[in-house]
Amino acid sequence: MQQHLAKAFQYPDRRLHLFYLDLNRFKQINDTFGHATGDEVLRVVSNRLAASMTDARLIARLGGDEFVVLHDAINPDRVVLDAERLLTVLSCPIVIDGRRHLIGGSIGFARYPEDCTSSEELLQAADIAMYDAKIRETGLSIYNADMKSRIEARQRISERLALALDEDALSLAFQPFIDLSSDSLIGVEALLRWVDAELGNVPPAEIISIAQEYRLLRRLGRWVVAAACKAIMGWEDKGLAVPFPTSINVAAEQLEDGSILRDITDMCEVYGVRPEQIEIELTESIMLKAPEDARQVVLGLQKLGVKVAIDDFGTGYSSLALLMQFSADKLKIDNSFITDLFADSPSFKIVEATIALAKGLGCIVVAEGIETQTQADILQRLGCGAGQGFFFDRPLPAKIFSERWLKPVAQTEFSPA
Ligand code: C2E
Ligand code: MG
Ligand code: MG
Repeated sequence: MQQHLAKAFQYPDRRLHLFYLDLNRFKQINDTFGHATGDEVLRVVSNRLAASMTDARLIARLGGDEFVVLHDAINPDRVVLDAERLLTVLSCPIVIDGRRHLIGGSIGFARYPEDCTSSEELLQAADIAMYDAKIRETGLSIYNADMKSRIEARQRISERLALALDEDALSLAFQPFIDLSSDSLIGVEALLRWVDAELGNVPPAEIISIAQEYRLLRRLGRWVVAAACKAIMGWEDKGLAVPFPTSINVAAEQLEDGSILRDITDMCEVYGVRPEQIEIELTESIMLKAPEDARQVVLGLQKLGVKVAIDDFGTGYSSLALLMQFSADKLKIDNSFITDLFADSPSFKIVEATIALAKGLGCIVVAEGIETQTQADILQRLGCGAGQGFFFDRPLPAKIFSERWLKPVAQTEFSPA
């Protein structure tokens, strides 16, 4: 392959463009369905590439699930269109033995001579862009000089994260859900926290994105389930009542590979927690990534007694579709609608309609990101059941949360019959 690429460099004044393509779910398909299925997926992908990139100078598989497409320079406007076309072609299901496999891909793009001086460097630049593409919604990234240092920084964070997991140096913070009419506590969300000695405070969204990219998510997901169960057990051991589920956020990969089901089952057993004491928070984007497998896992969890909340409601494309798939226990209206909530604002109408919808479906509605009394008052007038936000309390360490919010189990429950 390197030789073919080098050949294209025989004419130094030729301008070349390279797409570096990596398939998204190939390893999982190979592991789950076997190598014959994996080989068939690669064959279909090769055919699709050849059929859609007819003017390519070279199409080659680099090994594993990585392909490159080399072109003579293409018009800059065409780069994005071509990449989108490739990604669309790849996202069509591949049917093998009657089963539909969804793969999709990520594409990095680089140019010669603008980005490099040799065939090796062109390949390396496109590879770097491909890594960047993996963390973008679009699945496409065009190489630039800053990218290398950004990727090195992410690599460093991933190494520190692996170490933090080994050393149990992460923590969970707990934020209450409050009943808006009685001001009483009706639930709590566990949110990931990590203050690293070198990196400082790393926000959870970044931790998750790094864990996804560097295949640490399975370990991290298990750690979160364990830490939440440990906290519940710790509160109960102190004689405190925890009469509501503790919510944990779940990432797509945990549903896709079913690990969340195993982790909750295992950790409930280890820490003596009942599955009904756990609630998982799902977003639409998570369900969209692997709809059928994820649906089965969620149904399995519900069978165990685990509660389900729909998180960030209103921010995805298929909120309603998602609601149809599960009987969710809670529906959480996204922060963004609460920020500019005042009478007659567009958010007001959406929030009003969402509350009616959730009530019709029998879910508890939780408004996220309440920061002011006014927002709480408006939401209560609209009939919103519960709220979460800095107005009530910030996410707190487990001990402070329990001191501030939990009450001892009623004495009568301790007294002998
Ligand atoms: P989320 O699940 O929607 O969590 C709510 C976020 O809103 C939290 O941000 C919380 O600190 C923040 N928040 C709460 N009240 C207010 C408020 O009044 N105003 C504002 N501006 N923000 C408020 P955080 O902790 O930074 O988490 C961000 C996101 O990271 C979470 O959004 C969740 O999607 C993800 N995340 C956090 N922990 C985990 C985890 O253990 N696993 C996974 N997969 N994702 C997690
Ligand atoms: Mg959440
Ligand atoms: Mg949310």
